[in-house]
Amino acid sequence: MTDRTRPETDLTRPVLSVRDLAVQYYTDDGPVRAVNGVSFDLMPGEKLGLVGESGSGKSTMALALMRLLRAPTTITGEVMLDGDDLITLPERGVRQLRSSKISMIPQGAMNSLNPVTKIEKQIIDTLEDHGGRRDKRELLGLARDALESVGLRRSVGKMYPHELSGGMKQRVCIAIAVAMQPQVVIADEPTSALDVVVQRQVMDTILKLQEELGVAVILIGHDMGLMAQTVDRLAVMYAGKLAELSPIHDIFADPLHPYTELLIESLPKLADRGTFRGIPGLPPSLRSMPSGCLFHPRCPKAFDLCTELAPDYLESEPSRFVACHLHQSQESHAVRR
Ligand code: SF4
Repeated sequence: MTDRTRPETDLTRPVLSVRDLAVQYYTDDGPVRAVNGVSFDLMPGEKLGLVGESGSGKSTMALALMRLLRAPTTITGEVMLDGDDLITLPERGVRQLRSSKISMIPQGAMNSLNPVTKIEKQIIDTLEDHGGRRDKRELLGLARDALESVGLRRSVGKMYPHELSGGMKQRVCIAIAVAMQPQVVIADEPTSALDVVVQRQVMDTILKLQEELGVAVILIGHDMGLMAQTVDRLAVMYAGKLAELSPIHDIFADPLHPYTELLIESLPKLADRGTFRGIPGLPPSLRSMPSGCLFHPRCPKAFDLCTELAPDYLESEPSRFVACHLHQSQESHAVRR
């Protein structure tokens, strides 16, 4: 296998630093904020989970981090990756960073591969697009290495996407995402539309590569059980904002935000087989957000202040960030992350 070492990484500094990220779409009915003031740090080699209901802004945020959103959209804030701000960097610079420093395993592999191009060529195209000039033999070697790294035979490179199963296609997408050995990989619901056994295999492939390459992973999904087994920290998103971000053990042992608590309570348990507890109500429409805390219409712990004032997102305990009035006191660290 080709040498996969890369320059020394400073393990004490975030590899990705996101501050006040906001995404606004312009629709016929006016502007809509799909992501609103999101801030977090991602450490080298960290596995960060990102959960939330459909429409909470998870995938929009992923696309914003990759600068893959197109007009009519505006992205504001700061996304620092290895000294570059992905929000203000000219398109040419962002193109160079995509795949080489930050890459994405997309949702639904079926639609992201080119149906009329052989797999090997699709990997080589990515390497050529983002990795500068290399000779043909080297590119072919790297493409084959990438396939083997995700447990696929080299001969798969000679096939077209329609000749592969869903799980194989998703592995090809993983191979393309890691072919350039990026520092950050965003996996957007990488196992959706796959059956349970294949889901496990695909997740194992991502985790094996994460360990081998020391890459930091943002795993997007809504499966709290999968997150519990997989990630180091979990970020919970609600209506375009972060509700809570905590180490995974802490979040399950003692969730701070009432929404996190309800998400955990909605997990099926062996003890009460057959009883599912859902979260009451629906997420708000992005076109008409409630006043105060966006979760207040559904929150069982809401009190007067919640309807009037939006809580800040603060570090309420060391390494634990939450946006809820229940955790905002004089002692709260006034540090925005
Ligand atoms: Fe519930 Fe109030 Fe906390 Fe919002 S701020 S989550 S409404 S308790």
